[in-house]
Amino acid sequence: MVNKEVWKSLTQELAAKGVTLIAVSKTKPVGDIKALYDLGQRDFGENYVQELVEKQTQLPTDIHWHYIGHLQSNKVKSIAPFIHLIHAVDSFNLLLEINKQALKNGRIIDVLLQMHIADEETKFGLDEKEITVLLDYYDTQKETLKNIRICGLMGMATNTDNVKQVHAEFSRLHNFFKLLAGTNFFNKSYFSVCSMGMSADYEIAIEEGSNMVRIGSLLFGSRA
Ligand SMILES: *Cc1c(COP(=O)(O)O)cnc(C)c1O
Repeated sequence: MVNKEVWKSLTQELAAKGVTLIAVSKTKPVGDIKALYDLGQRDFGENYVQELVEKQTQLPTDIHWHYIGHLQSNKVKSIAPFIHLIHAVDSFNLLLEINKQALKNGRIIDVLLQMHIADEETKFGLDEKEITVLLDYYDTQKETLKNIRICGLMGMATNTDNVKQVHAEFSRLHNFFKLLAGTNFFNKSYFSVCSMGMSADYEIAIEEGSNMVRIGSLLFGSRA
């Protein structure tokens, strides 16, 4: 069930703050996506490749699909023809594969690097050092990696009631984002997206500098 009133107030609130809303529609039926689409929502996020591909074929082509889950290299080719932004890149091999599939499709694919900020082992991502190493390497290979653009960072905070901790984790990500945005070692003109914040913590994320939030249950109801 889609909560249209929440969508309307959230959209206004986020527009005023210059924050992009990704409606996370994973596990939800295409009818729910269409309902938000009809209100004007265009950015949707999914985290299962097969589910995304099935939904994409049934819905309007001007939807911007965001892949927000952990992506396996062998699945990149299924989404390469249409994906708008891949949020959670956490290895150089994955970057290579995205570039390869983007080239095959005659496209340039935008990606974010996933930074690990939570104190939970289950959340994927790289720390500051690993991201620096990856970007250094990217810099040496960028003439061959012309079909991808690294557009920013993405991260997930710990699932906790400890507000101070969540602030600190988002702050860490945003600080590193700012640091990278101020360097010259890769094409930083595209480096502008700081994707952090979900239903439970998006307000904290925005206070800490997020400009893209990924919100599911607040809009679509809780998932089974
Ligand atoms: C599911 C998911 C979200 C949305 O979570 P909600 O709590 O339903 O808002 C955001 N980001 C990622 C990476 C997710 O997997």
